[in-house]
Amino acid sequence: MKLSPHCALSEFVSSQTAARRGIDNTPPADVIARLQLLCQHVLEPVRQRFGKPVVISSGYRSPALNRAVGGSATSQHVKGEAADFEIPGLSNVEVARWMERKLNYDQLILEFYTPGQPNSGWVHVSWRPNYRNEELTARRVRRGSRLVTEYVRGIVA
Ligand SMILES: [Zn+2]
Repeated sequence: MKLSPHCALSEFVSSQTAARRGIDNTPPADVIARLQLLCQHVLEPVRQRFGKPVVISSGYRSPALNRAVGGSATSQHVKGEAADFEIPGLSNVEVARWMERKLNYDQLILEFYTPGQPNSGWVHVSWRPNYRNEELTARRVRRGSRLVTEYVRGIVA
């Protein structure tokens, strides 16, 4: 099933963790409708701008899958509003900065990008009708002996 000209539903529901653990990751109809909006408003324009495949690393997560991967209980992945992706061969920060200039979205998060390593990290993006156009950068920082995730405003790299 196609969600938009370049997005297939299968890309948003396949999960190695779900397959390995026998978790059902079949999306309900309202999730499919939200994934279609995410594709139309965000991922299809990204595909058209860069002309290369957009590789989804995490799209929909059923509640059981979200628990299995340690996702936040309020994650937009559970609603079908969010996807994590990369475009092989392009820097994640370059893609995020273009999106920041040109697109509307709910949240755009540059996740775990290391400057100087174009393929490091990924881009998380969400869309909903009452979108916030909020940009964040997630990075791992050391607190004592622990690595914790810190979110800062803007696309910072
Ligand atoms: Zn995400």
